[in-house]
Amino acid sequence: MAEAIALIGCKGRTQEADHLAVLSTAMPEERIVPFRLMDDAERAAAQVAIVANPDPAEVAALPNLVWVQSLWAGVERLVGAFDRPLPIVRLVDREMARTMAEAVLAWTYYLQRDMPIYARQQRAGIWRPHPYRKPADTTVGVLGLGALGVAAADRLLGAGFRVVGWSRSPKSVPGLEAEHGLEALPAMLARCDILVCLVPLTTETRGLVNAERLAALKPGAALINFARGPIVVTADLIAALDSGHLAHAVLDVFETEPLPAEDTLWSHPGVTVLPHVSGPTDLPSAGATVAANLRDFRRTGQPPQGIDKSRGY
Ligand code: NAP
Repeated sequence: MAEAIALIGCKGRTQEADHLAVLSTAMPEERIVPFRLMDDAERAAAQVAIVANPDPAEVAALPNLVWVQSLWAGVERLVGAFDRPLPIVRLVDREMARTMAEAVLAWTYYLQRDMPIYARQQRAGIWRPHPYRKPADTTVGVLGLGALGVAAADRLLGAGFRVVGWSRSPKSVPGLEAEHGLEALPAMLARCDILVCLVPLTTETRGLVNAERLAALKPGAALINFARGPIVVTADLIAALDSGHLAHAVLDVFETEPLPAEDTLWSHPGVTVLPHVSGPTDLPSAGATVAANLRDFRRTGQPPQGIDKSRGY
């Protein structure tokens, strides 16, 4: 049997046991050992680490790693975390894309069917219908046309919404109108009734959704942030909500997670808070994806395609 694979970053023993059970079932030919249980010889020999939002110091404590497989799609905490050119392979998984697309559609309906307004009205005992807006008359902008953004856009198109996507480089997605680059952003935002954020957190996207970009949205537009908290400037978001320019924000991700109890976002009437649940890792599916990557590595000696660290994703 080859050297042990390190498992790093599980939250607590229960999650660690769950991860071990699923990963070991997906690749019975491998021996997967939690970092905390590895002895010095195992740490020295490990070539591969499977990580879930790990402490980078634990990854750095494995001197002979050849690559790191993340169980998360977002790996911003690992970019620049190591002093050697270690390939970081993020999770690209069909089940995660399906779940995220489902969440984008669900929360788009929540906004399009005015659910936050009716929930407020119910609390105040107000019986007041609002005009219905068809999906075909609702434009949803999707920032980021990667594995998750394309799946989300596709699902929205299938439900009859008008969709315009945005990415860094030009993209051709059948049936989807796609823009790219910062120059195209203001005109794209000006068309959006709902803006969905699905770009990775990088030095370029930190603070991307700021006062200027929020102001460029249609009056009464809404925001869904399912990517990472620091992509949206919270103070600018609250100002846009308070001014009435933005009708509502659905936030699944935050600068600090869990969202601190004293944070004003909890009680802002224009904000729906979700506890980072829009695109959870589906362990059995992720296990199969990781097992396929490992088998390729054992066969060829080549690590899978890692992220481009100069781009940050
Ligand atoms: P991905 O496949 O790497 O796609 C990223 C997309 O963003 C690409 O289309 C890329 O453009 C675009 N992009 C990156 N930087 C940009 C910039 N500066 N300007 C314009 N577009 C830019 O990533 P993914 O798998 O779709 O995941 C996206 C993010 O979702 C993850 O990084 C993670 O943070 C987040 N996420 C959240 C959850 C959750 O539960 N809340 C779950 C999973 C993932 P190009 O096409 O030109 O490269």
